Amino acid sequence: MTLETSIQYLPGVGPKRARLLQDELGTGTVGDLLRLYPFRYIDRTAVQRIADLLPDQAYIQIRATVRSVKLLGKGGKPADPAKAGAGMRLSAIVEDGSGEIEVVFFKGVKWMVTRIVPGATFIFFGKPTVYGGRINLVHPEVDAPDNVGTGGLTGVYTSTEKLKTAGVTGKVMTKLIAAALEGVLPELHETLPDYILREKGLVPLTFALRQIHFPTDQNALAKATYRLKFEELFLLQLSLLKQKYIRSRNEKGLPMPHVGPAFNACFNALPYELTGAQKRVIKEIREDLRSGRQMNRLLQGDVGSGKTMVAVLTALLAIGNGYQACLMAPTEVLTQQHFANISRYLEPTGVRVVLLTGSTGVAARREIHAGLRDGSIGLVIGTHALIEDNVVFRRLGLAIIDEQHRFGVDQRSRLWAKGADGIPPHVLVMTATPIPRTLAMTLYGDLDVSVIDEMPPGRKPVITRQFGENKRYALHRFMRDQIALGRQVFVVYPLIFESEKVDYQNLERGYEEIVEAFPLPQYKVAIVHGKQTNEEKNFNMNAFAAGRAHILVSTTVIEVGVDVPNASVMVIESAERFGLSQLHQLRGRVGRGSEASYCILMKGQKVSKESQKRLDLMCATENGFDLAEEDMKMRGPGDLEGTQQSGLPISLNIASLARDGQILSDARSYAMHILDKDPTLESEANALLAAELRKDKYMAPDYSKIS
Ligand code: ADP
Ligand code: MG
Repeated sequence: MTLETSIQYLPGVGPKRARLLQDELGTGTVGDLLRLYPFRYIDRTAVQRIADLLPDQAYIQIRATVRSVKLLGKGGKPADPAKAGAGMRLSAIVEDGSGEIEVVFFKGVKWMVTRIVPGATFIFFGKPTVYGGRINLVHPEVDAPDNVGTGGLTGVYTSTEKLKTAGVTGKVMTKLIAAALEGVLPELHETLPDYILREKGLVPLTFALRQIHFPTDQNALAKATYRLKFEELFLLQLSLLKQKYIRSRNEKGLPMPHVGPAFNACFNALPYELTGAQKRVIKEIREDLRSGRQMNRLLQGDVGSGKTMVAVLTALLAIGNGYQACLMAPTEVLTQQHFANISRYLEPTGVRVVLLTGSTGVAARREIHAGLRDGSIGLVIGTHALIEDNVVFRRLGLAIIDEQHRFGVDQRSRLWAKGADGIPPHVLVMTATPIPRTLAMTLYGDLDVSVIDEMPPGRKPVITRQFGENKRYALHRFMRDQIALGRQVFVVYPLIFESEKVDYQNLERGYEEIVEAFPLPQYKVAIVHGKQTNEEKNFNMNAFAAGRAHILVSTTVIEVGVDVPNASVMVIESAERFGLSQLHQLRGRVGRGSEASYCILMKGQKVSKESQKRLDLMCATENGFDLAEEDMKMRGPGDLEGTQQSGLPISLNIASLARDGQILSDARSYAMHILDKDPTLESEANALLAAELRKDKYMAPDYSKIS
């Protein structure tokens, strides 16, 4: 038997069960099965007495005998066990001599009713909860009573309804895995070289696999878990970093050794001191630009952290070396804002900066095209209009992209092709979507990531509150007070693809309600949503940005980057339906001026526990990275906003990006250390690593290349 042997040859499997296991768990081979780790362990030595149970304890197990059983149908009426089915509830009183407790089942009742019969004894494993002032166990796992008392820890494997119905119980899984281990362990070879095991203090693979499935004690299990997590994260980082090494060796970059007078002129005229984080990032960029290799850098920074200044100084470095720069942003409004801000910064430098968008007139466009071609324009700011073929640069050296996820790969590569001397420009991508460091390291493992993790001084916190529907009147009064103070208000409605129609109805109703509560001529209300033409959107956005409207009602189209310093109130309707990072992005739209700002989270009647936790977190912190970490813990990294398109390169079996950040950083620096000495993993000592990286899962295309 080898790792590649199909599981159908394991005792008791056969083709039919093999297919089922493949469909349900994705395990086709013996190797797959061995890498299907338990998601939990039951400490079989610890059986609690019912009398000792406490509410809100962690998972416990009791060994108890069923005394009585009740089957309740819809509406709580007693039901006939012969007709047990969906929507019914099975309630049993079980006792163990020390006391009694209710166990309850809502799912799988039809089957449970045949098992949970008076007189039968089981091990019940679950989490005690309180209902009606009494402790009960809801949906405990039910095991045979002899599953206890032999000592050690028992692994619990993922299962599904179908597997259970087909008789592939936890016990069967355990047997299969035992057989698989027995079959392959003697021949199993290590995946990590000896020197790594030694240097990192890792247990051998055979030990780790045996212990992860059948731990002899907590200590051995901890060692096994660490080894497997480290291996998983290390090999992933090694493969990403290796691609990066190979690419950075191959891809020549435009040389930019100088700082230049334009940079200095702007720098010396700055109305404020750069934050420590801004200085650090500019230094990192400066190193990239003069390295002779192409820069591919992702700049992450919370809304308001001062990314624009970094972009400007980077552009001036390129210009100071005789190149041109472009800054591309996803919306017209954003480019206009960038243009207004950046023009001011560039005044002392004499660098010519222009704005090029879809609505640039024909004559102006012709002039811009000419200026780009003859090199008299140093910096062009624009939308997709920048990538059109008739935009030709004399010497493009740098492309800055604001909010990367709005641009497709194809669009970016067209920009790439415009570089001077046939060499791709340096690329700086800016994003305000905070991605936890651990995730960034994995998603963008082959990119360089800079983080601005410090806010400019003097920013006032945004006061965040949750309101229920009963406070709508108070909300309107508050809005009127703020408007009377000369401020403006955002009101945002959710727009979620699956419920688009209803969402638009809500938006419309909300808009009408606001117009009624804030009537003309005293108040002006603008509305922006995705069904408007670009022209309508721009018109309404501009009316608000210029202060002609007091209130802007919108869907989340305002999420990206608009800067209206005078807007001090952000009202988010049905806030419970937004994800954390989206809420955070929206809140970032206010608090940009010197006035106190507010974010009001309006919530509906029914708010799930998890949604409530998000709202509470929003009220508790303003730090985007903290929120992103929490978001990742709650939802898992696969669902993080802003990352769906890229997705994770490979799925992780045992490590968690949310919880194993420390191991990940460790594994990453160790991978770097190894590649420093042997970038292509050609040495004899690294032969095992090279072989591992040749496996399919590491052969993914260069998915994260940003430009
Ligand atoms: P971002 O693009 O990261 O959201 P901006 O670049 O728009 O942030 O900066 C937000 C505000 O902070 C701007 O008004 C800018 O002038 C100001 N700012 C930037 N850097 C500093 C600094 N070091 N000190 C004080 N204010 C700063
Ligand atoms: Mg910005």
